[in-house]
Amino acid sequence: MVKYKEKFEEQKVFIDGEWTTSSKGDTYSIINPSTGKSFVKCQKCDVEDTKRAIDVARDAFDNGPWPEMSIEERTKIFYKVTDMIAEKAWEISKLDAMCNGVPVLEHASMTMMLPAHMRYVCAQAKKLVEPKKVSGEFPLDQKVWREPDGVVAIITPWNAPFGECMMKLPPALIDGNTVVFKPASQTPLTTLDLGKMFEKAGIPKGALNIITGPGPVVGVEMAKNTKVDHISFTGEGITGKEIVQNALGNLKKVTLELGGKSPNIIFDDFSVDEAATAAMIGGYFLNGEICIDGSRIFVQDTIHEKFSKKFVELSKSLKIGNALSLKTNIGPLVTETQMEKNLKYIEYGKDAGATLLCGGYRPREGELKDGFFVAPTVFDNVSNDMRIAREEIFGPVLCVIPFSTEKEVIEMANDTTYGLAGAVWTHDKERAVRVARKIKAGTVFINTYHMLTADMPFGGYKQSGWGREMSEQGVEEFTQVKSITADWSGLTKWLMNVIISH
Ligand code: NAD
Repeated sequence: MVKYKEKFEEQKVFIDGEWTTSSKGDTYSIINPSTGKSFVKCQKCDVEDTKRAIDVARDAFDNGPWPEMSIEERTKIFYKVTDMIAEKAWEISKLDAMCNGVPVLEHASMTMMLPAHMRYVCAQAKKLVEPKKVSGEFPLDQKVWREPDGVVAIITPWNAPFGECMMKLPPALIDGNTVVFKPASQTPLTTLDLGKMFEKAGIPKGALNIITGPGPVVGVEMAKNTKVDHISFTGEGITGKEIVQNALGNLKKVTLELGGKSPNIIFDDFSVDEAATAAMIGGYFLNGEICIDGSRIFVQDTIHEKFSKKFVELSKSLKIGNALSLKTNIGPLVTETQMEKNLKYIEYGKDAGATLLCGGYRPREGELKDGFFVAPTVFDNVSNDMRIAREEIFGPVLCVIPFSTEKEVIEMANDTTYGLAGAVWTHDKERAVRVARKIKAGTVFINTYHMLTADMPFGGYKQSGWGREMSEQGVEEFTQVKSITADWSGLTKWLMNVIISH
């Protein structure tokens, strides 16, 4: 039996530098999906609480010290937080595993990289502070400045809570914006912890505000509120579209990181063993609850049969268990609803005539009894037009689609409304790059998967989103571009004289 901390204090929200309750005193419970039991209470904020947090952030931007501080002063605070993250990385990983059911080791593999990410973000922001001088045809002094957007509202999903938070919060803050942050209701603990770290590191009051509560209440207000200048959202496409509509009031800037149904393309110059491992790596990370999941596995027909046999063998060997166990490969899905959604898609797959090779059920033996588990599920002979191949399932339910030619697989790979990611597995370098370039997606891996690093831009084509995170673009994303043109040469005076004299 996995041991975990049994007692958690009721969590508060962080507004105007104070840890406080929701104005009405309402709370809600977080359920550990490995056990089905609630273990901590969080504040259920409402529209009034959200407005208050936004007002505070507005005032902190318009009148507070944070936007006026030098990049060096802001970086000092960031470096203190970076050290705290490094120290608490394992604790953070455990908390996220308890809230969302993703195996703790997988959380740790991401958390360990985040101190380096923080330092990278600081270095990029420093580059933006100095204006870029433009030398044009005229004798003018022309400079392009980067300035913070203002008040940034951030909304994140539950699948990689701390990682998602770190993709948005550090660049938004270091650029001098003030922030109102709403983590997913199921997984707010590590974002709240990050707030405590920033508080301890000395962030000025009001620069960072973290509230918890239902998306359709708190999130909607954040999108609608005209005191917000930029809303940065990661989540489902349908929510993203609602945010765009709600943001119209003041035409605030909108950044969207949405879903995917990514092609994982395996050519036959890979051995069957290599191919099956490639499909595992692409498909089962974070229980398959990751936006870039290689959920459509395209396998060349010449190795298809042997591949499927091996892939099923590997899928069946995965250890299903409590997310806190170091032995677990597949944890429970985040909520009962998410589990039911996966089971529903399994029925769609069977009804559509796909071949269910393994999984397809909820395991309930022993300590899995009350958790929200779905066994690793492989459908074979899937056609690209089936619902299971077109819609995001977000779980360990994978589709194998055979193909014969490069042209055919590119067409099928791109026949999707999404465009977030994809992968190509082949030893033929020319073919690898050719196919990677043809896939209409923001991130394509060759002979690897899930290798996201701080210096590579991340974001989607088509309905997978707007804008980019990570990399220098991710830091620029939270700034406005300002052109300042000055004439010290007398050109304007000369022109005025010409106009007047005519
Ligand atoms: P979701 O859209 O249901 O919720 C995301 C966040 O939005 C949560 O904080 C939620 O409370 C809030 N929310 C809900 N309704 C809202 C509304 N009407 N207005 C404003 N906010 C609202 O998504 P989810 O189920 O938490 O996450 C899974 C989805 O996120 C998947 O589609 C996945 O692909 C996507 N995702 C994308 C990326 C990426 O970087 N592209 C990364 C992770 C997850």
